[in-house]
Amino acid sequence: MNIQRIEHIGIAVANLEEAIRYYEDILNLSCYAIEEVPDQKVRTAFFMVGETKIELLESTDPEGPIGKFLEKKGEGIHHLAFAVDNVESALTEAGSKGIRLIDQQPRKGAEGLKIGFLHPKSTIGVLTEFCSK
Ligand code: ZN
Repeated sequence: MNIQRIEHIGIAVANLEEAIRYYEDILNLSCYAIEEVPDQKVRTAFFMVGETKIELLESTDPEGPIGKFLEKKGEGIHHLAFAVDNVESALTEAGSKGIRLIDQQPRKGAEGLKIGFLHPKSTIGVLTEFCSK
């Protein structure tokens, strides 16, 4: 696989509006998009930091992945996303090397990206996402 850069860092937050205020008022970043991703039961807010984004994730359902994460671990870094040429082949390659996949096939993420996740049990504790346009 060919990893191009860190596309974004996903951060689980309890309250999106409060978190946005911190990133805007204290860090002086500006939120350029808020998007709900019903598929993942989240509302997301995006900030650009150089070539990398910060993606804030607020749960819309306690049974969703972020809802469960917040309950277990509380707020904080949730996942690391790498931009790759081709999500499908990156997933296949990781799977063929014995990495446990959460997604066998790419699915649709925020901003219309194709995304796929690797299981943190196989990735030294970091939930890892591949994404491409
Ligand atoms: Zn992500």
